[in-house]
Amino acid sequence: MTLTKYQEKRRFGVTPEPSGDTVKAAPKKKAVSLAFVVQKHRATQLHYDFRLELHGVLLSWAVPKGPSLDPSVKRLAMQVEDHPIEYASFEGVIPEGEYGGGTVMVWDNGTWEPEQPDPDAALAKGDFKFTLYGKKLHGSWVLVRTRGFGGSSGKPSWLLIKHRDQYASQRDIAEEEPLSIVTGRSLQQIAQDEGGNVAKAATGDPALPAKEASEAPADAAKTKPKSKASSKRKPRSRPARKPAKAASRSRKK
Ligand code: MN
Repeated sequence: MTLTKYQEKRRFGVTPEPSGDTVKAAPKKKAVSLAFVVQKHRATQLHYDFRLELHGVLLSWAVPKGPSLDPSVKRLAMQVEDHPIEYASFEGVIPEGEYGGGTVMVWDNGTWEPEQPDPDAALAKGDFKFTLYGKKLHGSWVLVRTRGFGGSSGKPSWLLIKHRDQYASQRDIAEEEPLSIVTGRSLQQIAQDEGGNVAKAATGDPALPAKEASEAPADAAKTKPKSKASSKRKPRSRPARKPAKAASRSRKK
């Protein structure tokens, strides 16, 4: 495991990312705990960088859609170059034009444990099971290496899958908990604070809940419509929305 690739891709006079030069000879204390971090990164495309500490570096995968708590959902995870351990606390703006230019948020962090006695063998085999102790992500997960797409880019492609356990869930964690776990900021706020591209960063934040949605009667959606009561519900009036749609469209371009 080496940081050569990581360092080759970056100009450390320009980007605020850590250089990884200070190779900390990991103190040979009994492996206490291994760090994990998920960084939400609005670069060319929005993605989530999933990183697990092993042997003094962060093994790294780019997960376009982010992790899913639903065990029936497999999320593509492209393995990328190992990152320095210090990268786990990096939140900020990589200048446009630099490698990975855009806004980075620490979306979740914590520690992890391998579930197999030999994690290196598990990684080599392409069937890597681990437990996360994060603030948003918990419980048992697996990364399974695939053949097939992703192959042409030269980057090994994997699937990130939640195992069935008490932390499995149907809820959309990326949508429900979109903010930085360390600063509580949105991507937009990070870009604002650190001189990034605010409009671009904002496209990585979930849309604010529509105003009508919060004004709708709270019981309308939850109670099962009884035959008579349901007739009282007002149908959503579609035609009323059309003028607004036209206006916002012309604004975009
Ligand atoms: Mn990234």
